[in-house]
Amino acid sequence: MIHFNDNSELAIVDTIFSPSLSVFLDAFPDALLLVDDQGMMRMVNLAAQKLTGYTHEQLLGKSIDLLIPARYRARHRHYEKAYFKDPRKRTMRNGRSFALLKQDQQEISVDIDLRPITISDQSFALVNINIANQQFQVEQELQEIEERLLLAKQAAGLGIFDLDLQHQIIYQDERMSEFWGEQSTRSCTYETFFSAIHPKDRALYQAALNKAIDPTGDGEFTIEVRVIQARSGSEKWINSIGRVHFIEGVANRVIGIAQDITKQKMLEKALQNFRSEEESLFKQQVAIHTASAIAHELNQPLTAISAYSEVALNILENNPNQRSKIKESLQNCVTQAQRAGDSLHELIASLHKADAHIENLDLNEIILDASHAVRSNGFSDFHQILQLESNLPTVSANRVQIKKAVINLLRNAVEAMSSANVTNSAITITVNTIAKEKLALVTIEDRGPGINPQIVHHIFDPFFTTKSTGIGMGLSISRALIEANGGQLWIDPHSTTGAKFYFTLPFTS
Ligand code: ADP
Repeated sequence: MIHFNDNSELAIVDTIFSPSLSVFLDAFPDALLLVDDQGMMRMVNLAAQKLTGYTHEQLLGKSIDLLIPARYRARHRHYEKAYFKDPRKRTMRNGRSFALLKQDQQEISVDIDLRPITISDQSFALVNINIANQQFQVEQELQEIEERLLLAKQAAGLGIFDLDLQHQIIYQDERMSEFWGEQSTRSCTYETFFSAIHPKDRALYQAALNKAIDPTGDGEFTIEVRVIQARSGSEKWINSIGRVHFIEGVANRVIGIAQDITKQKMLEKALQNFRSEEESLFKQQVAIHTASAIAHELNQPLTAISAYSEVALNILENNPNQRSKIKESLQNCVTQAQRAGDSLHELIASLHKADAHIENLDLNEIILDASHAVRSNGFSDFHQILQLESNLPTVSANRVQIKKAVINLLRNAVEAMSSANVTNSAITITVNTIAKEKLALVTIEDRGPGINPQIVHHIFDPFFTTKSTGIGMGLSISRALIEANGGQLWIDPHSTTGAKFYFTLPFTS
């Protein structure tokens, strides 16, 4: 017979540990253990096996210690003795849970009810185990969140700080105090903490903190400062982000995270250096191009002036009476000098932003203008075939720049033909419309020797020239001018009849 010593709920008539008692206990949904006064488990039901993860055989006859985490065992033995001295029903809940060690060594929180039972004059305790429901779950979830946070913190290399504004003490985790150098321990005065900041950044740090603790503000604290590492003297860039906690409108704490951004800062600096180097290289290029463009403009007239001067000197020496010829040569010198001046003026105008204004131009008119300029500048030895489309829509471009590009192309054509002694020097200029693309297409084709396929890919390179007095900037400047006006300039590399250049310009939209 089983007596519940408090004479309560159940009385079971049976012989000690009969199979029917075991069936009876198995039917209970709660985990039940029958423990003798020596702490040995004498019966375990199915729910207990399921809860602990042990089999019936693994538990039966074993000490209850098996289910108690090692750190609680001594204390448990003390309770056990006390219990069997005064066995009575006990409910151990009320917010106090026990740790149960499962077979997989995981600990779970449980509530325990103890009920004294006497079977054949022997004292037992019937232990009813329930998972400490909500609390256990909450604890589990909290633990998981904590673990996830820890992982995230580790992965991001974050340090954590908690600044107690009332007592001016800062608490930091290991990573944070590592950022802050050797002088800053896990908890230290704000003064010590502050002294590690680079002197040039201290005012910034304090200003960010003052702003954050201002009760009328948003309580956000964010700052990037350099921290001096006391021992090595090196600097670390640290980014701190925090939030201020107010109590009754007064800033009480700032809790936040910090990150070492030294590498990022160094990369930024390297990029900045690279950019300024690139910029100065670009400026250098602009200076070279400008100087070359000026040389390009002066080269022609200076060569001519030198030639006319030599002629004049020659006449003076050999036929000093031929005054008209001397005058003619000197007159040519004057014309060339004026031409040089005009070219420079135009060049400066085209380089000057304010003058580079865009207008609606009649491209046919520009072509005629440019060809006239070429002739009047001493390159009149060519025959011109014009195929200009009538009613050509206007193009939006800068007059001076387009005219300059056309003059360069025509001048090159004349020079190529005269150096090759082409007898019937003719330049065909065609202007027509590429309607679909809303562009005007200009073709300038000469009857000269054309361009050697081996060098054709280099002719637009700055300083590329095959001429003894050339500078090699004409085509590169012309291309830049056309492109600055939204068009393109290229050469037909397969032309067999001479050089054939094309350029486009967009129509006024
Ligand atoms: P430069 O006239 O000072 O040489 P350019 O940039 O105007 O500089 O021309 C570069 C080179 O392209 C010339 O030296 C020449 O070899 C070639 N070139 C340009 N235009 C023609 C052309 N119409 N016919 C043959 N070769 C040309």
